[in-house]
Amino acid sequence: MFNNLSDKLDKALHTLKGHGKITEVNVAETLKEVRRALLDADVNFKIAKEFTKKVQTEALGQDVLTTLNPGQLMVKLVKDQLTELMGGETVGVHLGGSPTVILMSGLQGSGKTTFSGKLANYLKNKKSKQVLLVGCDVYRPAAINQLQIVGEQIGVEVYAEVGNNNPVEISQNAVKYAKANGKNVVIIDTAGRLAVDKAMMTEISDIHKAVNPQETLFVVDSMTGQDAVNTAKAFNDILNFDGVVLTKLDGDTRGGAALSIKSVVNKPIKFIGTGEKMDAIDVFHPDRMADRILG
Ligand code: GDP
Repeated sequence: MFNNLSDKLDKALHTLKGHGKITEVNVAETLKEVRRALLDADVNFKIAKEFTKKVQTEALGQDVLTTLNPGQLMVKLVKDQLTELMGGETVGVHLGGSPTVILMSGLQGSGKTTFSGKLANYLKNKKSKQVLLVGCDVYRPAAINQLQIVGEQIGVEVYAEVGNNNPVEISQNAVKYAKANGKNVVIIDTAGRLAVDKAMMTEISDIHKAVNPQETLFVVDSMTGQDAVNTAKAFNDILNFDGVVLTKLDGDTRGGAALSIKSVVNKPIKFIGTGEKMDAIDVFHPDRMADRILG
C-alpha cells in the first residue's frame, strides 16, 4: 500500500521533472492525493487540511530535477512531517513515585480494563515491578470481575472493595494498601460511560485530585476515528493527562486517530494495543504509525 501513494504522487509529479523545482501550482495535485490518503486513514478533516498546508510549505522549492522518482521524495517529506507531528520519539511512563500511581481514563469499551492488565503485565515482566490493579467501576460488577480474571491470568493482585460505592475512597485505600504491602506501581482502572458526561468527568476528576497520579493515561479506541478528537479534548480539559493509549490497532483501522489526537491535545501517544491478549501491547512508534497512515 505504501507504494500506492508513492505511485500516485509520482504520477501527479511526473510533469514536474522538466521543471526542476516544485512550485505552488504543480504541487496542488499531489497534496490532493496526500489529503485523500489522510482522510482514508480517518484523520480528522480539519487536521488533514492543516497538515497538507504544512507539507506544501516544506515541498515548495524542493529540487526534483535530480530525483528519478519524485513521488518517493514527496512520500518521504510527508512521512517525516507525520512522524514529527506524532511525537518523533517513543515515550514511556514515569515510574518515579513510591508507589507510582497510574490512572486510566476513557470511555466504556475503549479498552481500559484490558490495557490496565497489559500494562500491569508489561511493568511486572519488563520492569520487574510489584503491581497492584485497582477496580474502581462501582456501577458494573462485571467490570470488577473482568479485572479479577485479568489479574489471575497475569499473576497480579487486584484490589476491590465489594459494597463500597465511593471510587475516590477505594482508590485512596488502594494506594494505602499498596504502600503497606510492598507494591511499587498502582494501576487504577476507572468507570467509563458510552459518551462523555458530566458525572463521569466529575468522578474521574475527583479520583485524580485524591490520588495525585504520576501518570494519567487516556485510552481510546483507534477505530473511533473522527470522534476520538472530541473525546480526547474533553478528557484533557478535565485531567490534563500525560499520554494516550491507542487500542485495537490490530483491526483494519489505518490509525489516523493518532495524528488527530496528537494535533489537538499535544500529548504523546505512549502505547498501542494490538489485540485482546495480555501481551498485545507495544510502545508507540511514530514512524511506524506514519507508514500505516499513509497506507
Ligand atoms: P473498557 O470498558 O474501557 O474497560 O474496555 P475493555 O477493556 O472491556 O475492552 C472492550 C473490548 O475491547 C473487549 O472485548 C476487549 O477484549 C477488546 N479490546 C481491548 N483492547 C483491544 C485491542 O487492542 N484489540 C482488540 N482487538 N480488542 C481489544
